[in-house]
Amino acid sequence: MQPLDRRQFLTTMAAGTSFWAVTGAPGLAPDVHHSRGAGGGGGGPRRPSGLADPAFRPLPLGSIRPRGWLERQLRLQAGGLSGHLDEFWPDVGRSQWFGGAAEGWERAPYWMDGAIPLAWVLGDARLQAKASGYVAEIVRRQRSDGWYSPVANAPSGRPYDPWAVLLANKMLVQHHQATGDDRTFRAVEASLKALAPSIARTPLFRWGKYRWFEGLIPIYYLHERTGEAWLLDLARTLRAQGTDYAALYAGEGVTVPTPRRGRWTWDKHVVNTAMAPKAAALSWRLDQGSQDREFPARMLAILDRYHGQVTGMFTGDECLAGRNPVQGTELCAVVEFLYSLEILSSVFGDAAFGDRLERVAFNALPATFSPDMWAHQYDQQVNQVQCTINPDHMWTTNGPESNLYGLEPNFGCCTSNMHQGWPKLVAHLWMTTAEGGLVAMAYAPSEARFQSRGVPIVVTLDTDYPFRETLSLTVAPDRPVAFPLLLRVPAWAEGATLEVDGAPQATMRPGTFHRLEREWRGPTRITLRFPMQPKVSLRYHDALAVERGPLVYSLRLEERWTRVNADQPHRELPHGDFEVQPASPWNYGLVLDPTAPLEGLRFEERPVGERPFSPEGAGVRARVSGRRLPDWKMEHGWTAEIAPEPPASSEPMEELTLVPYGCTNIRVTEFPRVA
Ligand SMILES: [Zn+2]
Repeated sequence: MQPLDRRQFLTTMAAGTSFWAVTGAPGLAPDVHHSRGAGGGGGGPRRPSGLADPAFRPLPLGSIRPRGWLERQLRLQAGGLSGHLDEFWPDVGRSQWFGGAAEGWERAPYWMDGAIPLAWVLGDARLQAKASGYVAEIVRRQRSDGWYSPVANAPSGRPYDPWAVLLANKMLVQHHQATGDDRTFRAVEASLKALAPSIARTPLFRWGKYRWFEGLIPIYYLHERTGEAWLLDLARTLRAQGTDYAALYAGEGVTVPTPRRGRWTWDKHVVNTAMAPKAAALSWRLDQGSQDREFPARMLAILDRYHGQVTGMFTGDECLAGRNPVQGTELCAVVEFLYSLEILSSVFGDAAFGDRLERVAFNALPATFSPDMWAHQYDQQVNQVQCTINPDHMWTTNGPESNLYGLEPNFGCCTSNMHQGWPKLVAHLWMTTAEGGLVAMAYAPSEARFQSRGVPIVVTLDTDYPFRETLSLTVAPDRPVAFPLLLRVPAWAEGATLEVDGAPQATMRPGTFHRLEREWRGPTRITLRFPMQPKVSLRYHDALAVERGPLVYSLRLEERWTRVNADQPHRELPHGDFEVQPASPWNYGLVLDPTAPLEGLRFEERPVGERPFSPEGAGVRARVSGRRLPDWKMEHGWTAEIAPEPPASSEPMEELTLVPYGCTNIRVTEFPRVA
């Protein structure tokens, strides 16, 4: 448990009207108005310090370890770009943050923001030593005035945008939490002390203005350990100077898709957008404002309505780009949105944010990497049948290489920022309540170690979820102890069941946290089953998308990979750049009975592969009938617009194979319905 005071937990079962019960936000599950019960949050306590507790608190970094397919995925990551980027990519390896002459802005801190949790969730000694070495170098090079060393290299007289400093401090507190190294803590404290007078002189602008709330994460971390009031003053100043997203989303500008070769704007920048949902949650901890409580769900609903994708993401290449499934989403937005959802789940304790977290993590995140995690895209498309160097592209503001799998396609931000996705998910699977309870916020095979009332407890989850419906949980306390176990029941899991040591329990309500309160003695085995009813959803231009549980399904295409850019620097294998083209037909429409679409779908389970998110490693397949649509062709190197009217086809009926979206590298996900 955290070394924190344990003042009484007051937020449980908070009174007040749920936003979703009133408005039915379309972007969230329909019955999320049930989801507030366990988490509370709304109308929470006003603490003497002014900082309200989160509904659920993440466990200290390193308390949760991946198992099963999740461990294989994290080991692939550590063996791929994430574990080796500093060894050959100058913008990290020779960063000004470490005394080199390369980039001295966000790239090294971005990489460490993922490499640190990766090292500690895996218990990877090599990566831990490497990360600690870089942290020590940053701390050693910190100037006596508190600024980190690259800031000295900013041209004198020009105002400095402190975004990279906010990012570095957010990264460094993770290292302190994992290691307890006091030098890291003091470095962050000195940096924040230098920041306060600086932003009083030169208020936030550019990136710092749009990302002010990231600075609250290290500020709160220090405040919870020191109680120093100036830290919360600094948090309030950042908020006052930063972008007010609720005001921004009261206007219509953010609803308009950016046109092809359109204008790049701060307001519609997709990474700013993906980071922003956490702003209100962090702000709420300062003064429990009712607008802060309701705004994140409203923001997501607006994004879903105007830019939403079936993966749970929104488009942005790299400004918000509408619902068309070819328009694409930048990888930085995917990993930042996951982290926003982890903060929202923790602060407000809403089951719906956990549902959304799983949807993005199990679909959009894995899809945008090569299965070995040595290559990634800048933009992934929901309908993406080829990834090529394409000067005729339809991106809004991105370049011709944006959907290549490579080292730094289009721009190197994602190369440095992509690493946080999986490890921070692991670190937020389980959380604790102030009353000593444990919360299952998101499900994947894992082990969590925590203490309740001074008793050490190990909780183990063995499962191939989300590829399977059954989850086996073992709760093993050192000695008998009573505490509540809160199990998130996904909103889609109608008929969810629970057995404790083989005895069936009361049914669980979807979209809530099911509370299991008992005295735990010895190892207790719990079996959860979340029935995954298939679902066919209507998307852009009434196209059809197949979903089941948290997974979205896509047409499996044969792939032809071709190496490109071999003459570019730092493109030695295995981290080269690759085009991917289809080696099998892609232009199918689905043939489904509109009155009973599910009868045309058949799912079969297969072993989850060594590479869980690869076409051949897919743990589930679906079969569905379809016909070729000869008039659905390529345009500008992409699949042409889906016609609003269902097309007819006289081509023969074929049985199509769908696999989870995250297992594909090229795909069709939103299909025309054959008339
Ligand atoms: Zn990026």
